Amino acid sequence: MNQVDTELAAQVLRDSGAEVVEDAASANVLLFVTCSVRAHAEDRVFSNIGALKARKRREPGLVIGLVGCMAQQYGVRLRERAPLVDLVCGPGRLGDLPALVEEARAGRRAEALDPPRTESETGASWSDAALDAAEIARPLGGPRPGSPGRRRGKPGQAYVVVMRGCDNFCSYCVVPNVRGRERSRAPRSVIEEVRRLVGQGARRITFLGQAVNQYRAEEDGRRWDLADLLTEAAAVAGPARLAFITNHPKAMTERLARVFRDVPTVLPYLHMPAQSGSDAVLARMNRGYTAAEYAERVAMVREARPDVAVASDFIVGFPGETAEDFEATADLVRRMRFAGAFVFKYSPRPGTAAERYADDVPIAEKRRRHKELLALVEQIAGEENQRFAGRTVRVFVEELAPRPGAKARAPKAGRLNGASPLPYNPQSEIRNPKSVQLRGRTPCHRIVVFDGPPDAVGTEVDVAIWKAGPLTLFGRLAGEDCRVGV
Ligand code: SAH
Ligand code: SF4
Repeated sequence: MNQVDTELAAQVLRDSGAEVVEDAASANVLLFVTCSVRAHAEDRVFSNIGALKARKRREPGLVIGLVGCMAQQYGVRLRERAPLVDLVCGPGRLGDLPALVEEARAGRRAEALDPPRTESETGASWSDAALDAAEIARPLGGPRPGSPGRRRGKPGQAYVVVMRGCDNFCSYCVVPNVRGRERSRAPRSVIEEVRRLVGQGARRITFLGQAVNQYRAEEDGRRWDLADLLTEAAAVAGPARLAFITNHPKAMTERLARVFRDVPTVLPYLHMPAQSGSDAVLARMNRGYTAAEYAERVAMVREARPDVAVASDFIVGFPGETAEDFEATADLVRRMRFAGAFVFKYSPRPGTAAERYADDVPIAEKRRRHKELLALVEQIAGEENQRFAGRTVRVFVEELAPRPGAKARAPKAGRLNGASPLPYNPQSEIRNPKSVQLRGRTPCHRIVVFDGPPDAVGTEVDVAIWKAGPLTLFGRLAGEDCRVGV
């Protein structure tokens, strides 16, 4: 979602005549597109903004803007915590950015926020027209990596926002407060966008929504759910492959499971966060299902299509999580044999229902559970991956492989003063233009690293897997796509 927010912000600003530059040091407007899901992400933003103090003194005309969920979460109070900020823009108001930039550059207050959201008040009328227009106008990324301001996602791929906001109010989660009421985009608008993207050469299209399988729309008397939307999209998408994230277990239906079986271009990958394996914790999280129900839904999907890779998210150290609760989560991981999972330490969020529970799992214990669960997830993913060793798989090439570890490292506070904040541009390190390390994904979303020509990015190739690790498959180009000796 943040990636899309960033692309949309760049799009509306470019349309207004601004130039989107790659190097933060040469910009005279710096926008931070932010996330509020955990405190850690917010802390990093505050520290990066604080580090701009000297630069702001040197360049008084520099506009510093806070865009996205943190802007909506803190609102006008932000100025107290981050006095260097000149511009504040919520995630639902990206269409206002050009006007805001103009105001801020003229030294006036620049603020666009949606009205605060509460659980009882779900009817706030958020206007999505500008977002839809910018979404539709975004061109697909070119064949080469680079020039981030100009591309939509990675080459050959696009995200399509099919629904915004969320009404689920999981007790730990800030998203409903900052992204507003759940609303689905009109099917016609989505299908048109898919058609256009495919015309521009898209090979992978991912539908996005906080609980994408809760997609509901009515158009010309016809009711649509996600199964309908995927089926119709596949009909206009030709060979382009479709994925959809993220799925809420309580909304997983037999109809959607059948789409995996019946629509061959829908990728066999299901990201469906369980969050916990303990029924008591799930109830306090307000998730609306038990661990047994979660397992049933996974079984239903695997019955429809056995090779679907199921991935999850987990939160460890939720208030009141006992050793037995944690063991129940580990047990669910063992039984489900996930292809992968993100594991997060619980982070109390202001304005959420769980704020009223004591954050009573000590940080050292949260760390221990985090480490233990992650190790278990990796062990199982590694075992599952073994079945790929020695096989040839179809791989969609996403990008040149980043230097190991480059992606995982957060930019150090202060880097925005000078050097580009972009982590690493592998293109600058290409020594042999005929063969570089590439990174792609199998249809089931597993990462594959192999050597090949840089122009393979954005295309599909066959790769023979010679080694399978817990997070990555290693291979070499195979068959007719083998254009370089390896
Ligand atoms: N809409 C998605 C998730 C959005 S947030 C869904 O429902 O699955 C992404 C992930 O962050 C969540 O799945 C959850 O695991 C984690 N998360 C959300 N709030 C959190 C919090 N307060 N502390 C720790 N992790 C959190
Ligand atoms: Fe947050 Fe739950 Fe909505 Fe996901 S479904 S965005 S976790 S409230």
